[in-house]
Amino acid sequence: MKVLVATEKPFAKAAVDGIREIVEKNGHELALLEKYTDAAQLKEAVADADALIVRSDKVTAEVVEAAKQLKIVVRAGAGYDNLDLAACTAKGIVAMNTPGQNSNAVAELAIGLMIYMSRNQFTPGTGKELKGKTIGIHAYGNVGRLVAQIAKNGFGMNVIAFDPFVPAEKLEAEGVKACASIEELYANCDFLSLHIPATAETKGSIGKKLVGSMKKGACLVNTARKEVINEDELIEVLAEREDIKYVTDIAPVKVDEFKEKFGARFFATPKKQGAETAEANINAGLASANQICDFFATGNRKFQVNK
Ligand code: NAD
Repeated sequence: MKVLVATEKPFAKAAVDGIREIVEKNGHELALLEKYTDAAQLKEAVADADALIVRSDKVTAEVVEAAKQLKIVVRAGAGYDNLDLAACTAKGIVAMNTPGQNSNAVAELAIGLMIYMSRNQFTPGTGKELKGKTIGIHAYGNVGRLVAQIAKNGFGMNVIAFDPFVPAEKLEAEGVKACASIEELYANCDFLSLHIPATAETKGSIGKKLVGSMKKGACLVNTARKEVINEDELIEVLAEREDIKYVTDIAPVKVDEFKEKFGARFFATPKKQGAETAEANINAGLASANQICDFFATGNRKFQVNK
């Protein structure tokens, strides 16, 4: 089988070497399309591929249409909003992600961004410590859970969380207070760390009402997706509440307006950095290759997301 790795933003070399080793050891062939600049290149490369590994690359309906013998596509990462799942399902293509493989990298970045904002973006002036403050975790999945544990065990923070799909008993057993509602979460934290996926339900859901209810001096930390934010409402509430800060790993569409209006109360990483560690690259890359080989060998669909 031909396994294509198509990455606009390539994996680390060690990850590619590891992927090649797994693919070839299992009797398959590896093809690489790195740093491509046009979707047409992806469409051409995917035409005869049996399996596809991508990172944040967009697997649109046109890409799926161009893939004449594709059986499986794996997003090396957690969020899979870059895959057109309906198009995959319509063609009988199995779509998977690699949950948990980059979570630690993202969690460490979330904590780093909190410190950066608490210390006035490392400019002179009196900052604040994390110890004793309350962090709200919005979605207690792989990343949220790690942020919670680092905040609690490493920094002595109080941790509260809201995730309608995780039982309160699990949170309480891990030393995290379960909030009964999203409103309770936002109104009671000094830092709010966002870890919800971008879905039809969550897109544009974080806006004026929730952010405006946050405590004095609170900071919203986004290592999830820009799409979950209602940007116009966030701009409005940051203008009204001069004590609130916003730090994000995914620059807003209106990044220039945020920078101009809110100065040191706003920071966006120049390019998404969350999963950009050698470790996360290697973990997610190797997991993708293993999942594909296992799928071809045994039909294992454990990480399928278009069931
Ligand atoms: P995950 O799938 O392990 O966890 C997602 C959690 O969200 C689950 O616990 C689920 O129950 C919860 N959830 C779903 N819908 C919800 C809702 N409406 N309200 C509250 N909770 C809800 O994913 P993860 O690995 O923790 O990653 C979380 C998100 O972070 C991803 O979807 C992705 O968009 C983003 N991410 C960003 C980077 C980066 O580079 N910055 C890297 C990895 C992941």
